Amino acid sequence: MNAPHPVPHPALRPALYSQHHLHKVALQSKDYKDNVNPFWCPGCGHHGVLTSLLRALSEVGVDPNYLVNVSGIGCSSRLPYFVKSYKMHTLHGRAGPVATGLQLARPDLAVVVTGGDGDGFSIGGGHMPHLARKNVNVTYVLMDNHVYGLTKCQASPTSRREMKTVTTPYGGVEEPLDPVLYMLTYGASYVAQSYAANAKLTTRLIKEGMEHKGFAFINVLSHCPTFNEAEDAKHFKAASDEVAPEHDVTDLDAAMHVVNMANRAGRIPTGLLYKVERPTLDESMAALVDQVGGRRDYDLRQIIDLSRP
Ligand code: SF4
Ligand code: MG
Repeated sequence: MNAPHPVPHPALRPALYSQHHLHKVALQSKDYKDNVNPFWCPGCGHHGVLTSLLRALSEVGVDPNYLVNVSGIGCSSRLPYFVKSYKMHTLHGRAGPVATGLQLARPDLAVVVTGGDGDGFSIGGGHMPHLARKNVNVTYVLMDNHVYGLTKCQASPTSRREMKTVTTPYGGVEEPLDPVLYMLTYGASYVAQSYAANAKLTTRLIKEGMEHKGFAFINVLSHCPTFNEAEDAKHFKAASDEVAPEHDVTDLDAAMHVVNMANRAGRIPTGLLYKVERPTLDESMAALVDQVGGRRDYDLRQIIDLSRP
């Protein structure tokens, strides 16, 4: 990739603060592929998610020089290696807070978080509500395979009760967490679901998530043929129902109703479930800085001094 863009001089930052336009270029999806080949198992659903993400980046036209792919730890958290972007392979479960700080410091960047169900909802579970309620302007693609793959088959927060793993050899004793219901509950402004083998839908949902101003959460059911044979690509396809065209994506009650009804019927609702516009965290921070008479060039000392009697 080209030489990195320098961090703007503080004097230039006011112009960047709270801008949500994406820096665009005309590139094909193959141009977003970095020169490291994916080293996931053959047949892993994550290959399909990567393909969809590369297509979405091309369709949005994001400049790779202004793109940062953040991840935690796990099979899916290796994804940034394969995308032409700046990359932050952080600690287990900590992609969210790192992405939050990054987006606040450089709101002119496109920030995409990629990770798994264990990373996001177990180790990182304490961070997920705050990404949603704060409406951090990042796109979070969760590759949900209902198992810990990298550490070789332990139960994750989304594992089905009937699934036998190393830590649940007789099956689970806990109800699985539903990522989309969780995100709707905590106030995410864009919530969608797909499955890895549906590249067309996954690409569209990631693209629209990147174009959405605010926290965009896309749960992608991504099969793990090595440790979760029962829930393979065919299973996720057969169990999925795309939300009806007349579904009102601005109606939170309707979105929750769709998910609850699908859960009761043992079905998986796919498509765009919810989308609303509300102020993002960086917009609210900028407004606060204005309100207290501070400067927008991140002079934290001056802001602290202003609050002193
Ligand atoms: Fe994919 Fe599962 Fe292999 Fe990990 S262990 S790379 S999730 S198939
Ligand atoms: Mg997993």
